[in-house]
Parts: sequence; C-alpha cells; structure tokens
Amino acid sequence: MVMMGEAAIRPVLRLKNVGVTYPGGVVALRAANIEFHKGEFAVLLGLSGAGKSTLLRSLNLLVRPTTGTVSAPDLGALTQSRVLRQHRRRTALVFQHHQLIERHTALANVLTGRLGYHSTLRSFLPLPRADIELALHCLRRVGLADKALSRVDQLSGGQKQRVGIARALAQQPTMILADEPVASLDPATSEKVLTLLRDICREDGITAVVSLHQLEYAQRFADRIVGIANTRIVFDGTPGDLSSTKLAEIYAGHLGAPATPKSFERPAHTPASLKPEMEMV
Ligand code: ADP
Repeated sequence: MVMMGEAAIRPVLRLKNVGVTYPGGVVALRAANIEFHKGEFAVLLGLSGAGKSTLLRSLNLLVRPTTGTVSAPDLGALTQSRVLRQHRRRTALVFQHHQLIERHTALANVLTGRLGYHSTLRSFLPLPRADIELALHCLRRVGLADKALSRVDQLSGGQKQRVGIARALAQQPTMILADEPVASLDPATSEKVLTLLRDICREDGITAVVSLHQLEYAQRFADRIVGIANTRIVFDGTPGDLSSTKLAEIYAGHLGAPATPKSFERPAHTPASLKPEMEMV
C-alpha cells in the first residue's frame, strides 16, 4: 500500500505489460502497465480507435490480453476460471448502448445484476425477495423507483442508462467499468448520468474506470485521467497535471495525423458483450 499524504492508495487491479492484438493482426493495445486504486474515478481519455475500449475490456478479460498479466492483489493473476469468476462478480459493466432487454421491465433488467450470485439452475426460478428489494433500492438510487415496472423500451435514453447503472449496482461491485457511457446521450443528460455515476461510486467507495472521448467531461469528473493515443498510455495523472503538450499528443491521433472518425464501431447489441455476464452464473 502506498501512502500519499493522509490518504492510503490501495491498488485493486494491476496490469503488467498488457498487450492486445485482435485476430486478423490489429494491434489495439501495447504494453500497458497500470494500477487502479480503491475508490478512484479514473477516466480513459482518447480518440476513437485509440484503444480505450480494449484496455477497459481487458480489465475483466472480456478481451483476453495477447501478452502480459492482469492481477488483483487479493486474487492473484486472473488466469484460472474460478478466480476470474470471482473478479467478474465484483466488477460491473456499464455499456454505451446500455445492453438492456428492451421488452422487459426496468426491475427485471436490474435483477439480472444478481445472476452472478446464483447457480444456473437457481436463476431459472424467481429470485429471492432480498434480491428484489436490493434491485428496487438500486432503482431508487438512480431516481427511477417509479419506473420499476415500466418496460425499458418506454424509457428515454438517459433513463435507460440509469437503469444500466442500477443493474451494475445490483451486482454490489467494488469496481465499475463504463465504456463510453454517455456517447449516445445529449450534453445535459450526459452530465446528469456522469454526476450520478461519480456520486454513487464516491459514496460507496467503488473504483470506476470510465472511457470517454470528451476532454471536458474528463476534466470535470475524473480524479485521474489516463490518456491513450495510438494504442499506448501516454499520460497518467490528475486533470490539473494535463499539459497542453500532453493534450495535443492525446488528440493528435495516429502518428500525428488529425483526428479521424471511428473506423470500428461496435454494433449496438453485440451478444458477446452480454456473454461474460452470463458466464458468471
Ligand atoms: P477506442 O475504444 O479508443 O475507440 P478500441 O479499443 O475500440 O478503441 O479500438 C482500438 C483498435 O482496435 C482500433 O484500431 C479498432 O479498429 C481495433 N478493434 C477494436 N475491436 C476490434 C475487434 N473486435 N477486432 C478487430 N479490431 C478491433
């Protein structure tokens, strides 16, 4: 444990030389060495295609590193499936396109956050009353108690993302990974959603790692900014430490070329994105 002033900085996840090359040879992340700490709100900042999502997804091995190791101080390297299951149970995900089941109620969606706590067989039965109470409590925390029985397809984009946050909370996580959680929302709604996420994480001491491409939000909400450019971590510090030179590097894009639009956009409903959650059961 490192002591900085009064505060103890406790590592909760450590990446050592993590590199990712996708099938087909696309190098998406190079030799990432980084630790995340208990209770911090860390923003991965970079252009589309920089490697943010790949880094974020390697934190719970949704993307398997081609090189290097991901480890948690209390679990060791996340290699064995039992250890990985434990890690995934306490690591919740929030997606850009929320990945909710639209025809189900908000409550039913939030309850899926509990599946990792039950056996596959048990999850076919009605979930225990304690789970339902917890799910309702999570909906209350995101201000949607009155929408518990509304179908998700009747909710606004911001409300859907708040249900996504409630589902993450129902998992009682120690860490939340949020992949561009506000990229599909208007500015006013984005601010509300990020404020909610940051405040809840702060209250509960949850470590948040959030990928964003908007500097303004990173500067406003992050305790720590991890700048990524062209598949490498090029900055790691507080928003106040981010110099204009570093900013130019983060936003310079590939080999100094101007920013290009995202060349690879994940489909809104990638079944694979849900799969690891289902693997937990
Ligand atoms: P960001 O989240 O910063 O937009 P990504 O991590 O999604 O960046 O992408 C980094 C690089 O990896 C990009 O060149 C992207 O096109 C590529 N990439 C991402 N996912 C895949 C995939 N499943 N298969 C092949 N290439 C991918």
